[in-house]
Amino acid sequence: MDKLFLNTRKILKSRVTLVFVSFLLLCSILVSVLVIALESEHECSGDDCPICACIHQCEKCISLLSSGCVSFFAFANCNTLRTLLVKAAEKVFSHTTPITQKVRLND
Ligand SMILES: [Zn+2]
Repeated sequence: MDKLFLNTRKILKSRVTLVFVSFLLLCSILVSVLVIALESEHECSGDDCPICACIHQCEKCISLLSSGCVSFFAFANCNTLRTLLVKAAEKVFSHTTPITQKVRLND
Protein backbone atom coordinates (compact mmCIF):
# COMPACT_ATOMS: atom_id res chain seq x y z
CA MET A 1 0.00 0.00 0.00
CA ASP A 2 0.97 3.58 -0.36
CA LYS A 3 2.97 4.98 2.56
CA LEU A 4 1.08 8.28 2.49
CA PHE A 5 -2.23 6.42 2.67
CA LEU A 6 -1.03 4.45 5.70
CA ASN A 7 0.15 7.63 7.47
CA THR A 8 -3.14 9.36 6.73
CA ARG A 9 -5.06 6.36 8.01
CA LYS A 10 -2.96 6.26 11.19
CA ILE A 11 -3.52 9.99 11.81
CA LEU A 12 -7.25 9.63 11.25
CA LYS A 13 -7.39 6.67 13.63
CA SER A 14 -5.54 8.58 16.36
CA ARG A 15 -7.83 11.58 15.94
CA VAL A 16 -10.95 9.44 16.21
CA THR A 17 -9.52 7.84 19.36
CA LEU A 18 -8.73 11.27 20.78
CA VAL A 19 -12.26 12.53 20.14
CA PHE A 20 -13.77 9.37 21.63
CA VAL A 21 -11.66 9.55 24.80
CA SER A 22 -12.40 13.27 25.14
CA PHE A 23 -16.11 12.54 24.82
CA LEU A 24 -15.88 9.87 27.54
CA LEU A 25 -14.02 12.24 29.87
CA LEU A 26 -16.56 14.98 29.27
CA CYS A 27 -19.45 12.57 29.93
CA SER A 28 -17.80 11.36 33.15
CA ILE A 29 -17.40 14.90 34.44
CA LEU A 30 -20.94 15.89 33.46
CA VAL A 31 -22.52 12.81 35.07
CA SER A 32 -20.52 13.37 38.25
CA VAL A 33 -21.59 17.00 38.45
CA LEU A 34 -25.19 16.00 37.78
CA VAL A 35 -25.17 13.35 40.53
CA ILE A 36 -23.71 15.82 43.02
CA ALA A 37 -26.26 18.49 42.07
CA LEU A 38 -29.24 16.15 42.25
CA GLU A 39 -28.25 14.42 45.49
CA SER A 40 -26.88 17.41 47.36
CA GLU A 41 -30.02 17.80 49.47
CA HIS A 42 -30.84 14.18 50.17
CA GLU A 43 -32.03 12.91 53.53
CA CYS A 44 -28.82 11.62 54.97
CA SER A 45 -29.01 8.44 57.04
CA GLY A 46 -25.73 8.98 58.84
CA ASP A 47 -22.18 7.78 58.52
CA ASP A 48 -23.08 4.76 56.36
CA CYS A 49 -25.13 6.72 53.83
CA PRO A 50 -24.69 5.20 50.33
CA ILE A 51 -25.64 8.49 48.66
CA CYS A 52 -22.91 10.36 50.55
CA ALA A 53 -20.45 7.67 49.45
CA CYS A 54 -21.57 8.11 45.85
CA ILE A 55 -21.20 11.89 46.12
CA HIS A 56 -17.72 11.43 47.57
CA GLN A 57 -16.74 9.16 44.65
CA CYS A 58 -18.07 11.73 42.17
CA GLU A 59 -16.02 14.46 43.85
CA LYS A 60 -12.90 12.29 43.60
CA CYS A 61 -13.66 11.58 39.93
CA ILE A 62 -14.02 15.28 39.14
CA SER A 63 -10.84 16.12 41.03
CA LEU A 64 -8.85 13.41 39.23
CA LEU A 65 -10.15 14.24 35.76
CA SER A 66 -9.83 17.99 36.18
CA SER A 67 -6.17 17.69 37.21
CA GLY A 68 -5.58 15.53 34.14
CA CYS A 69 -7.32 18.08 31.91
CA VAL A 70 -5.17 20.89 33.32
CA SER A 71 -2.04 18.86 32.58
CA PHE A 72 -3.25 18.13 29.06
CA PHE A 73 -3.99 21.78 28.29
CA ALA A 74 -0.67 22.89 29.78
CA PHE A 75 1.11 20.37 27.53
CA ALA A 76 -0.93 21.48 24.50
CA ASN A 77 -0.09 25.12 25.19
CA CYS A 78 3.62 24.25 25.44
CA ASN A 79 3.47 22.56 22.04
CA THR A 80 1.63 25.52 20.52
CA LEU A 81 4.12 27.98 22.01
CA ARG A 82 7.06 25.92 20.74
CA THR A 83 5.56 25.84 17.24
CA LEU A 84 5.06 29.60 17.23
CA LEU A 85 8.64 30.19 18.44
CA VAL A 86 10.07 27.92 15.73
CA LYS A 87 8.08 29.71 13.01
CA ALA A 88 9.20 33.12 14.32
CA ALA A 89 12.83 31.96 14.43
CA GLU A 90 12.59 30.68 10.86
CA LYS A 91 11.39 34.09 9.69
CA VAL A 92 14.11 35.95 11.60
CA PHE A 93 17.08 33.74 10.76
CA SER A 94 16.22 32.67 7.25
CA HIS A 95 17.69 34.49 4.30
CA THR A 96 17.28 33.98 0.61
CA THR A 97 19.98 32.37 -1.43
CA PRO A 98 20.01 31.30 -5.06
CA ILE A 99 19.54 27.73 -3.84
CA THR A 100 16.39 28.54 -1.82
CA GLN A 101 15.03 30.50 -4.79
CA LYS A 102 15.89 27.55 -7.06
CA VAL A 103 17.85 29.71 -9.45
CA ARG A 104 19.84 27.76 -11.95
CA LEU A 105 23.37 29.13 -12.25
CA ASN A 106 24.74 28.36 -15.68
CA ASP A 107 28.27 29.29 -16.63
ZN1 LIG B 1 -25.98 11.03 53.04
